Amino acid sequence: FAINMDQLILKHELGRGNYGTVKMVLHRPTNVEMAMKEIRLELDSTRLNGILMELDILHRAISPHIVEFYGAFFVESCVYYCMEYMDGGSLASLCCFPNGNVSLPPSLSSSPGSAWTSSPAPINDEHLARIASSMTRGLAFLKDELGVMHRDVKPTNVLVNRKGQVKLCDFGVSGQLEKSIARTNVGCQSYMAPERIKGSSPSHSNVDDSFTSYTVSADIWSLGLSIVEIARGKYPYPPETYENVFAQLSAIVDGEAPGLPDDDEESPEEGMDGILGVDYKRSRRRWSPEARHWVSRCLVKKAEERASYAELLAHPWIQMDVKREVDMAGWVARAVEWRDRGRRGNGHPRYD
Ligand code: ATP
Ligand code: MG
Repeated sequence: FAINMDQLILKHELGRGNYGTVKMVLHRPTNVEMAMKEIRLELDSTRLNGILMELDILHRAISPHIVEFYGAFFVESCVYYCMEYMDGGSLASLCCFPNGNVSLPPSLSSSPGSAWTSSPAPINDEHLARIASSMTRGLAFLKDELGVMHRDVKPTNVLVNRKGQVKLCDFGVSGQLEKSIARTNVGCQSYMAPERIKGSSPSHSNVDDSFTSYTVSADIWSLGLSIVEIARGKYPYPPETYENVFAQLSAIVDGEAPGLPDDDEESPEEGMDGILGVDYKRSRRRWSPEARHWVSRCLVKKAEERASYAELLAHPWIQMDVKREVDMAGWVARAVEWRDRGRRGNGHPRYD
């Protein structure tokens, strides 16, 4: 069925990114709650049909690890994109500290009037393995079934729900759409593989404008980096600052690849021990050797030596996940409560 604005009742805002706003809506004809993303375009009306045709592929993106697409339409210079509502939000909102960068999406920075007191929800090896396995399966599905790569793998594009499902969203199926987005602000945390950074022009240091000059293994770098960020609670490279805009990109290209934190490494909740208690620390700091090895196979700088999806899925860390029961629904419920209490500034529940 084709969705249009008249059928939708607008509810609250779910978040905001660099290119637009995501709102919760109710689709009246079906009574389904949806997330609607508004993307402002640099208007070129000849492109609109091309974009809609390219987006059509999304109707075939039916997988337990991909956020379902319901339809898209245009109003004036915006494309509205309706998708499955994920009631846990993004893994970034649950697991990642806003690290003081200059242009964090408002969804991650403190809302007006309430100081941000949140810290990342605790996560342990088995939850991380389930996240890694879901993301890898989602990416392998996109490649094998649809013949596309994701191009924007990062924790804000991994959504969870209270059923405990972990799904990817915002993959780049439409080159036409990509070209038309009015880019007002460029993200300050790069998840791009070294070869994508090297391949883009210096004047657009952070914008990858070569839509086809890299391959699917670039997504595998971003996958590994996302897993490291989720585990650490923090983006692992130095923030891009006004004074040194290239520090982060040169660290990615020339520096040592990051990995899971050592057990004795300072964790991001430093200074909050009194509030968080011992369990919290213990649960965050134990990463199995399998997890470390898996991540290191993603974060290989030479694209041709990086793991493939087949290797990652056959890896002992993922095979351990296949064999065990993991209460992801319970984890999501606790993590959501943790995040929302932090946002309200009421202190954190004890995590155990
Ligand atoms: P960027 O603009 O750099 O891609 P982003 O991914 O955070 O950053 P959006 O894709 O616009 O930006 O999403 C903004 C926020 O909206 C997300 O971080 C997430 O918290 C929320 N969100 C997006 N899609 C959904 C959804 N389907 N269900 C629930 N929340 C969502
Ligand atoms: Mg997004």
